[in-house]
Amino acid sequence: CDLAPSYIRSIAPYQPGKPISELERELGITGIVKLASNENPLGASPAAVAAMQNAIKSIALYPDGNGFELKDALVKRYEVAHANITLGNGSNDLLELAARAFLAPGDRVVYSAHAFAVYALATQAVGATGISVPAAEGYGHDLPAMLKAAKDNKVKIVFIANPNNPTGTFLMADELQAFMRGLPPEILVVLDEAYNEYLPEEKRYDSVSWMQQFPNLIITRTFSKAYGLAGLRVGYALAHEQVTDMMNRVRQPFNVNSVAQAAAVAALRDVSFVKKTLELNQRGMVQVTEGLTRLGLEYIPSFGNFVAFRIGNATAMYRRLLELGVIVRPIANYDMPDWLRVSIGLESENAKFLAALERAISQQA
Ligand code: PMP
Repeated sequence: CDLAPSYIRSIAPYQPGKPISELERELGITGIVKLASNENPLGASPAAVAAMQNAIKSIALYPDGNGFELKDALVKRYEVAHANITLGNGSNDLLELAARAFLAPGDRVVYSAHAFAVYALATQAVGATGISVPAAEGYGHDLPAMLKAAKDNKVKIVFIANPNNPTGTFLMADELQAFMRGLPPEILVVLDEAYNEYLPEEKRYDSVSWMQQFPNLIITRTFSKAYGLAGLRVGYALAHEQVTDMMNRVRQPFNVNSVAQAAAVAALRDVSFVKKTLELNQRGMVQVTEGLTRLGLEYIPSFGNFVAFRIGNATAMYRRLLELGVIVRPIANYDMPDWLRVSIGLESENAKFLAALERAISQQA
């Protein structure tokens, strides 16, 4: 459509997975297992569900545009102030708010090859130019190369995903801190921690405390993954109050609905549900990666609730797995055309995936 500026016309649309109902109708089968969008196989915490039911009673009212209760819960959790928090319609919204608040057409942005797709989309949507820095060995972010690219090109924002989707790769706290120290303070860093809750104890780090030292740091988190609220769309960004102020100026006044706000408060409190989620994920990750190894497949060790594995003709394998009742995610749009990404599900779902994969491979041979 010629009516849109050229930078909008050049955007390749984000392709979300199709819902199970649509695929079942398309294929004429039932009982499909979806392991394609890194969702929580346990669903949402019962406490969050109860909070939603209660919040529905007030659905005729506008939500709290400032999200007081949810921010208060986050303030208590992280020892930050209300003025450090931006609430988002999912963390995608926050990635976009950062781009809209801080980028002008022609500005430059750095992110890694194979990094989460929304960084490029948010960059392009405001007419800025993305610089994709080749990944380090093992498909992770090459922070020294990203630092150099950011400095050499006078960029405005660097997007970093830790852990990254779809690779599951992880950057250690000291690597991230060295990156922040090396970066001029006028370059903003959006540290996307959508999968932070899945990190094992020994890999945990306190990025929130870094905000004191680095006023150019924006941390984004979400309720979509470990908290099991993907359908509600709620996330948050933590940053210096002046940065937060700018993000809130471009935010829609009621971007997070009232049911989502209530559910998120309850979910944040339900620590045991998150613990259960992590334990299930750890066991499932072992089950799936051992299965992949048994089938002789290469995979990227993952710190998220998903794993990418190399399969060769990924498009054909994706189709075949679908026919066998399992939806996974092709990641050709991440420049990984030989790979598929599978989310970690319940034990029975993981077993169904591995059995389907084994069958598909044996039929190929
Ligand atoms: N960042 C990363 C790395 C992700 O994988 C996702 C979800 N696919 C998001 C952000 C956005 O998730 P949401 O908008 O549901 O918070």
